[in-house]
Amino acid sequence: MPPTDSAPVIAVVGAGFSGTLLASHLLRSSGAAITVVLIERSGRFGLGLAYGGADPSHLLNVSAGAMSAWPDDPSHLLRWLDLNREGLRDLLPSGADASTFIPRQVYGLYLQSILQEAQLRASTHTELRQLSAELIDLEPIATSAVAPADNRGNAGSRYRLHFDGREPMEADRVVLAWGNSAQAPAPTASSGVSHGWLPEATANLDPDATVALLGTGLTMVDMVVSLQRQGHRGRIVALSRRGHRPVSHRRVAPLGAWLEAEQAPATVLGLWRLIRARVKLAQQHGHDWRAVVDGLRPVSQSLWKRLNDAERRRFLRHAAVVWDVHRHRIAPELHRKLDDLLAAGRLEFIAGRLVSSEPHGQQHLLQIRRRGGGDSHALLVDRLILCTGIPLDYAASQATLVSRLRERGLLHPDPLALGASCSDRGELLNAEAAVQPWLYTLGTPRKGQLWESIAVPELRQQARDLAQVVLQSLPRQLQPLAPLAVVPAVVGERSPAAPQLLWRQLFDPQTSTYTYLVADAASGDAVLVDPVLEQLERDLTLLRELNLRLRFCLETHLHADHITGAGQLRRRTGCRLLVPAAAGITSADQLLRGGEELQLGSLRIAVIATPGHTPHHVAYRIGDTHLLSGDALLIRGCGRTDFQSGDPGQLYDSLQHLLTLPETMLVFPCHDYQGRSHSSIGEERRLNPKLVGRSREEFIALMNQQQLAPPKRINEALSANLHLGDLQPADLHDLERQQHALASQHAQATEEANRDIFNDFIGMYI
Ligand code: FE
Repeated sequence: MPPTDSAPVIAVVGAGFSGTLLASHLLRSSGAAITVVLIERSGRFGLGLAYGGADPSHLLNVSAGAMSAWPDDPSHLLRWLDLNREGLRDLLPSGADASTFIPRQVYGLYLQSILQEAQLRASTHTELRQLSAELIDLEPIATSAVAPADNRGNAGSRYRLHFDGREPMEADRVVLAWGNSAQAPAPTASSGVSHGWLPEATANLDPDATVALLGTGLTMVDMVVSLQRQGHRGRIVALSRRGHRPVSHRRVAPLGAWLEAEQAPATVLGLWRLIRARVKLAQQHGHDWRAVVDGLRPVSQSLWKRLNDAERRRFLRHAAVVWDVHRHRIAPELHRKLDDLLAAGRLEFIAGRLVSSEPHGQQHLLQIRRRGGGDSHALLVDRLILCTGIPLDYAASQATLVSRLRERGLLHPDPLALGASCSDRGELLNAEAAVQPWLYTLGTPRKGQLWESIAVPELRQQARDLAQVVLQSLPRQLQPLAPLAVVPAVVGERSPAAPQLLWRQLFDPQTSTYTYLVADAASGDAVLVDPVLEQLERDLTLLRELNLRLRFCLETHLHADHITGAGQLRRRTGCRLLVPAAAGITSADQLLRGGEELQLGSLRIAVIATPGHTPHHVAYRIGDTHLLSGDALLIRGCGRTDFQSGDPGQLYDSLQHLLTLPETMLVFPCHDYQGRSHSSIGEERRLNPKLVGRSREEFIALMNQQQLAPPKRINEALSANLHLGDLQPADLHDLERQQHALASQHAQATEEANRDIFNDFIGMYI
């Protein structure tokens, strides 16, 4: 069911990490027709200020193994890095793995690919629109005379979104995912002063210039490494009230959660003493203080919520800086760079206060009073870079959108100037502190409510939870029962599967290979499993005749007996190619591992690891009715194990696992040489001569004594299938290269045009 004009519209304002993830969750989770409009004023979707920079020396502050964007799929980023190792070779250190602190630029590319993934998913009953525009006002409007809007965004109203220089639009739900961008400053006004989060902060600087960095947090680190990267030789002075230096990550033995929030003191002093005592105890037992701090992470939001306003103010005044330094640590390699510069006398940390700053010719004259008193002293610098973070004081903000929301009473600034007040579910409170059910926020604006609300682990969780809140708030979309869909049968028979399944078994007589067409009849989305190159036109014709859209091609393994048609099918249909991980296949769109699941409309296709025929072999299971067993389980037989690193012991274990599936499940193999179409788990349990009555050892012995000729096309097939059979004339390669170069130029021009525009700046806190 495609989205219609009546489908609810959800506007997500801001396409940094929070907005991108929220949009993706909405599209993934919605069972009904919705339209998601992702609005980004920079036009750089999925990047965000934190990850949009082009300086590869700016690293994430958490290693890659902990930075998956999906809370329920912790290896997602690592798989994406694996898949794109070649394309990222100039940005990633060789041998990058879960412990690597990858460039933030790479993480930005990862978020862009998540958005692409969301777009690919968003073609059945949901739609994603990307709108390059700056929102400047949000107006509650009436939807009916029965429930007029009261200008407070209460039930009965929608929102009209007003943009700078563009027609307004209406939305049923609005999520402010603006990160820090709502408060981001204008580009540099004065030539000698810059903001650390602007791309030009260190540009056009004499290598011998003296630079003052105001702030000694993570933005300061970025500035120092940028200066070093551009060959800066001059003096760098970093100033903050306490002069704390960032501390380094270190691999430590984890302690885990060690504090129950309900039993913790509700005062800053009490917590402080407790943590210090715990650190002392941990160190006596050989643990690192970092493990104690990390162990507080699961309860840090709860601890913050237990503090009253007076205690929170106390925390902000006395403890926040120390907490941030120890909680938000930096990559060891960056820490070493700071050490080297300090040792060389080119970097200096000063604890003190900036008393005044005034232009002095082309330079700036700073008056600094060191901590502990005494007279101020003068410092003449060529550039002053502000590295103090972006304020979250929405009560005083002059930013256009924040001001308009405040004037309309749609915003209740946090009393501690840490964002906006909202409910536990993420609904914004209005000026009278009442919940506005259809206006939401996540991430940075919730800092006052949660304190820890700006790093990836919190944001990814919030995005998932808020997507559910928003979707559950939508009116039910109910439909009358349609006539039962006619499900084409397997080889002329009625399939026993669910009525959404459209199914075809196809045969290549040259290689006795079965290809399977699996489709969701309702949406028309289809996959082909193990397609054969020579049958390309057959498959395309069938897709066309059945009015199906090919979304994916799946491979059960790297075939040695036929060339796959997957590469050509991608070229002709734009489908994505999904292959087992570790098969060594290049240019796939996604790697699959056992335990993962693929959604195809209402169908779910589960991946089952079945090593043995090859080490990477997988089978695919559709519900409880169909098993695509590849070359693991054949009808009354099994795949061979005498080449491609086959392992009879592994195959035995895989087959035993497959035989635990439901007895009535039909088995569809990749090959049959005797004209049989399918079998069932029950049949194979009783009748498979390779398995019945045979122990593991006996099975291994049987497989090892087989004397089989190698497949006829093995050399040709293996080398072609490593590239998914995507063999084409050289001139087509050249044409594609030219198109790719043009696209890169366009992307670069767009980036340059948008340099002065802002977005989330969460990277500095991660
Ligand atoms: Fe095979």
